[in-house]
Amino acid sequence: MSISIGAHVDQTDPIAEARARQAPLVQFFLGDPQGYKGPEFAYAGGAEGLRADAEAAGIDLYVHAPYIVNVATTNNRIRIPSRKLLQQHVDAAASIGAKGLIVHGGHVNKDDDPAKGFDNWRKAVEATDLKLPLLIENTAGGDNAMTRYLERIAGVWEAISTTEQFDMVGFCLDTCHAHAGGNDLQTVVDDVRRITGRIDLVHCNDSRDDFDSGADRHANFGHGRIDPELLATVVRDAGAPVVCETPGGAEEHRADFDWLRERI
Ligand SMILES: [Zn+2]
Repeated sequence: MSISIGAHVDQTDPIAEARARQAPLVQFFLGDPQGYKGPEFAYAGGAEGLRADAEAAGIDLYVHAPYIVNVATTNNRIRIPSRKLLQQHVDAAASIGAKGLIVHGGHVNKDDDPAKGFDNWRKAVEATDLKLPLLIENTAGGDNAMTRYLERIAGVWEAISTTEQFDMVGFCLDTCHAHAGGNDLQTVVDDVRRITGRIDLVHCNDSRDDFDSGADRHANFGHGRIDPELLATVVRDAGAPVVCETPGGAEEHRADFDWLRERI
């Protein structure tokens, strides 16, 4: 089965990282994944150079938004800067010709009605100029999370389906998060597709933690708690490009790619 497999890599030279892994795609951050400072280009050639070099090398780029982005929250002091940061990363990712910007579903506060989070997602999609596909990722845990369980993903999707840019919003399915979040990997691809109509990207990761533990600790394939056959099933069923966010560098990633290719 021909599925593009790449990895999450350091942002300094994603082209070299892709070559070191013989990968047709790579994902990386633009700037600090934990800060509000806004995107930065670490690549020596800047945004223009990265775009041109990736095109010339035939490497697809994906950008992961900072973890702190939470456009769902009812807390204005987080939601407003999150929206700003999201737009900045959309613009930055579009400027390097990225195929998509991946963002976590976020969460509302413990006692909040999740409906408020769904509506905040709608507002965020309405307020953002989506110059490239925005791929919302499922999360492993988080108090009152928006994209841990299927019914919440359905709530987000129902809310954003009314927006003009709905076709620019896709889904990124993380296998570690789905497993640790308590979703059956045997059926999760169909379950998600029934809700979203699409899976644009798979984050393929093994998990150091048990099913439904709510913990988010990635492992190399065969070294975690996920049944190897189930990892392969998800990748096969989704049929989408794969990013491995597994520990290690080029050598470990190449071993993970081989492990996966043998099973799909
Ligand atoms: Zn992920």
